[in-house]
Amino acid sequence: MSRGGTGTKACAGHADGLRRAGFRVTPQRQAILKVLEESDRPLNVEEILSRMPEYRSGIPTVYRNLQQFAGQGWVESIIGSDQVMRFVRCHSTRHHHHVQCEECGRMVEVEGCGLAKALEALGSRSGFRITRHQLQLFGLCPECQRRGR
Ligand SMILES: [Zn+2]
Ligand SMILES: [Zn+2]
Ligand SMILES: [Zn+2]
Repeated sequence: MSRGGTGTKACAGHADGLRRAGFRVTPQRQAILKVLEESDRPLNVEEILSRMPEYRSGIPTVYRNLQQFAGQGWVESIIGSDQVMRFVRCHSTRHHHHVQCEECGRMVEVEGCGLAKALEALGSRSGFRITRHQLQLFGLCPECQRRGR
C-alpha cells in the first residue's frame, strides 16, 4: 500500500524501529505492530488483542502501547461512525491521510492532501496559526465502485 520508497524503516524490522525510538523491545509491542500491519482495516483494541492470543496482554497495556506508537506517528487512532476508537498502521512518515471505504471497510493511506493553502487562509481568518489537522475521509473503494452499488 505504501509506495515511493520512504517509510520502510518500521517495516524493515519492528525491533529496530522500537529500539531506535527508545522503546524496550517486547514481543507484545512487536505483535501489536504486526497485527496492524497485516490488517487492511482499522482495528479496535479488543480486535487487536484477539489477533495476538499467544500474548496475555490486557486491554490497558495494549492501549498504552498504541498511544505511544501514535506519538511516534506509527499508528493513528480513528473514531468510527459508531464512536468506537480504532487504530490503523501508518506507513508513510510524511504527511498523509487515511481513506476508508464505507462499503467494505477497507482503508488506504494517501500521501499529502494539498490543504496547506486553504488552512493558511483559514488560519488568518481566525487569527490562529494552524499547527496540525486531522481528516476523516470516507468513500467507495475501486472494487466497491465496480460492483456498482
Ligand atoms: Zn496515518
Ligand atoms: Zn470497498
Ligand atoms: Zn493533510
